Amino acid sequence: MDKSTIEKIRSEFPILNEKIYNKSLIYFDNGATTQKPQCVLDRINYGYEHLNANIHRGVHFLSQLATEAHENARKAVCDFLGATKREEIVFTRGTTEAINLVAFSFGEAFCNEGDEVVISVMEHHSNIVPWQMLCERKKMKLRVIPMNEKGVLDLDAYKKLLNERTRIVSVTHVSNVLGTVNPVKEIIEIAHAQNIPVLIDGAQAVPHIQVNVKELDADFYAFSGHKIYAPTGIGVLYGKEKWLNAIPPYQGGGEMIATVTFEKTTYNELPFKFEAGTPDYIGSTALAEALRYVQEIGIENIAAYEHELTEYVTKRLLEIENMRIIGQAEDKSAVVSFLVGNIHPYDVGMLLDRLGIAVRTGHHCAQPLSDSLEIPGTVRTSFSFYNTKDEIDVFIEALKRVIGMLS
Ligand code: PLP
Repeated sequence: MDKSTIEKIRSEFPILNEKIYNKSLIYFDNGATTQKPQCVLDRINYGYEHLNANIHRGVHFLSQLATEAHENARKAVCDFLGATKREEIVFTRGTTEAINLVAFSFGEAFCNEGDEVVISVMEHHSNIVPWQMLCERKKMKLRVIPMNEKGVLDLDAYKKLLNERTRIVSVTHVSNVLGTVNPVKEIIEIAHAQNIPVLIDGAQAVPHIQVNVKELDADFYAFSGHKIYAPTGIGVLYGKEKWLNAIPPYQGGGEMIATVTFEKTTYNELPFKFEAGTPDYIGSTALAEALRYVQEIGIENIAAYEHELTEYVTKRLLEIENMRIIGQAEDKSAVVSFLVGNIHPYDVGMLLDRLGIAVRTGHHCAQPLSDSLEIPGTVRTSFSFYNTKDEIDVFIEALKRVIGMLS
């Protein structure tokens, strides 16, 4: 993407004009959450101004309009993910809730004492803790795929972990710390050869690379709206129809039922069986707008431009003495984590902040990964298509100053 395209894109994000301690904001914390374009902000307002009424079953005009918008948003997500059926798209609060849903409901239906769940060493806590809770509840074992020193999963070790007690595999598509893009298609194929279903945590993938759940043959795929330019509080679980039909509801309440008596409740059809309570229909329609916006720019253009940015920042970081890039896989997404000498990442982050630069520091909700690397965490830069090489240059100069102050 050329300079004028990026400038136009930047002008569509009001927050990029904010001053932080009197400095222009440089926002390199997109892995945590992305900023919102004006069209998404407008869509939220439009929803409340013109079609706010609780959805489904309402006979009145506004309710029907709101229902239609919400269900159209489901169709937009379905198309975006390359799924075939709207029924396979469940709206959740985010990736975390989507994984908890599967860990609970799949666990109830298919897991017993002595069974095993396989995850990887580079998972976010939201793809560790729900499985640990299941393992505790059902007296099961959590098995962990290791990685090599570059941050690439060891697929031979993975194959050896699978056995007749493995009930499900759950791995991240892209690591939020290392940036590694995992070979999830292959991971899925290997599990499927033994009839084991696979959940993919797509939180860090969908904003950056083209995802097609059918091509991947994923059984479940989860992502968060707020990481792809949509509001907080809305996310998605894709699940193959056969699995969603085979597992029980996650939460009980309105919307997810067909009939209720004090003796017995029957459940609604897909996907409503998994959507107890009033759904975030403003969030879902804003998510659809965000997906439209991203598709208008083009995921391929986004991936290529963000790749340029990550290559550039990596090259510039390596100019600095005692620089250690954490995560050196060949296939990396828009995340670059690093450490400088013995300087604590927190100190770097604090001082960069005073210069208007937002980066994330710490273990990034992947504490076991930091432990396995024997590091206190990292400084993490994570990029969006609205970032620029000029911003990277300002960041590198600021980082050099900060290192000078801390050395
Ligand atoms: N998985 C990964 C890889 C993440 O990076 C994150 C958030 O940073 C999550 C899951 C959790 O996402 P959320 O907090 O939106 O549910």
